[in-house]
Amino acid sequence: MAEANKYEAVIGLEIHAQLATNSKLFCGDATRFGAAPNTHISPITMGHPGTLPKTNKKAVEYAIKMGIACESTIEQNNYFARKNYFYPDLPKGYQISQHTTPLCVGGKVAIQLNGQTSYVQLNRIHLEEDAGKSIHDISPTDTCIDLNRAGTPLIEMVTEPCLHSAEEAFQYVTEVRKLVRWLGICDGNMEEGSLRCDANISVRLKGLTTLGTKVEVKNLNSIRNIKKAIEFEIERLIGLVESGETIIQQTRSFDANNDTTFAIRDKEDANDYRYFPDPDLAPFHITEEYINTIKATLPALPQQLKSAWKSSLGLSDYDVDQITENKEESEFFANWIQTTKHYKAAVNWILGPIREYLHETGLTYTELHTSISQLNDLLDLVESNQLSFANATGKVFRGIVGTNIEALQFAQDHQLIQNNSTDTINQWVEQVLNAHPEKVAAYKKGKKGLMGVFIGEVKKISKGQADPKITTQILEKKLV
Ligand code: ADP
Ligand code: MG
Repeated sequence: MAEANKYEAVIGLEIHAQLATNSKLFCGDATRFGAAPNTHISPITMGHPGTLPKTNKKAVEYAIKMGIACESTIEQNNYFARKNYFYPDLPKGYQISQHTTPLCVGGKVAIQLNGQTSYVQLNRIHLEEDAGKSIHDISPTDTCIDLNRAGTPLIEMVTEPCLHSAEEAFQYVTEVRKLVRWLGICDGNMEEGSLRCDANISVRLKGLTTLGTKVEVKNLNSIRNIKKAIEFEIERLIGLVESGETIIQQTRSFDANNDTTFAIRDKEDANDYRYFPDPDLAPFHITEEYINTIKATLPALPQQLKSAWKSSLGLSDYDVDQITENKEESEFFANWIQTTKHYKAAVNWILGPIREYLHETGLTYTELHTSISQLNDLLDLVESNQLSFANATGKVFRGIVGTNIEALQFAQDHQLIQNNSTDTINQWVEQVLNAHPEKVAAYKKGKKGLMGVFIGEVKKISKGQADPKITTQILEKKLV
């Protein structure tokens, strides 16, 4: 769309992440996904009169962890507020949330965009409870309600309206998912609804600083859908403005069957939720000391590892991005480089053969830790040209991993050690050239493609032991 260049999209995201606590935010009901409907619903979850909620300390700790990781300011004086509204899957008639004192204020999340680091500014991260679930596709005539999810702890992370493209939103949500998994506070599983996103989108003429009227696309349950929904909305909004229509504030939903969105309701005047402090829950104070204790338990974060490894190990942006994709992998790497200086080779092994091996076997990095000394031997054999990379990864690694066989022993037993002796390779080359005089003649007349055939023959008669580099050098010398 040519007119699109005149406009700038403005996007703000609200992410709800279910905290990976065993029990709910205000009672001992289990939070486990997939239980039989309505089996984790104590009178507290149901809001029966006379019941008293009690705050789950683990949930507060998890929310603070996220706040620290995002460099938010942690609010020390907190209270929970009742957000009153009617909804069938909200058994109490109100949701316990935070109002004027979100647990974490401000902060930022680093993302990679077009090869550069940029920051998404956060407005707040607060704690609240999840609602139950209305299920429309079991019965043709009825809506079924499962209240197991009601009361599950959530953090809601709200960005400033500071994003400007679907790609940027995509990167942000990817990074948030990685971060919650890294911290171990949420499983990040979008299909199961552990991580959900609402996207607020508006457009304005470039250069303007005021915000346009926004639409909100609710409950996006995959990162792909977030991107698709935003792409669709930006085009749709620009189309409306171009044709002179007024944009009305709307709540919309995404239709994954055709990558479009549709209106579910026009926003009436701002909802009046009649917030007030929950009289059953005492305000809670978070001490500086407690914040520091949590800080001390935080693992090194991907962003910190990236810059440390880039400068101290001389790795590329791509390599450090890859090696900090997942916490177990980065811990394995951190551990490995205590005992090797072949940093780049270690990255290559992890990104290639090791990932492949773990993927195939379903094993984890924990199970591979014992193999680090074998891996170091393999790196040394490859670096010193005694073993080809292909044989090291394909045959020797597979042959010795999980055993106590030494790399060199295995390679020798299977005749995989390369012969670097020029004399021996010379003899093999002679043998091959003598056996194929007509091919030698053809090569000399210009059929240079035959080089591959000669190398292959040397490989064959040496049973793969001739170092291919030296073989090529000798062949080139002899064939002039
Ligand atoms: P609401 O009360 O409708 O939920 P908020 O002011 O709390 O609205 O903002 C919700 C999200 O929408 C935030 O991420 C915010 O950055 C974003 N947002 C607010 N106004 C706009 C706008 N005009 N265009 C795009 N995003 C917006
Ligand atoms: Mg909103």
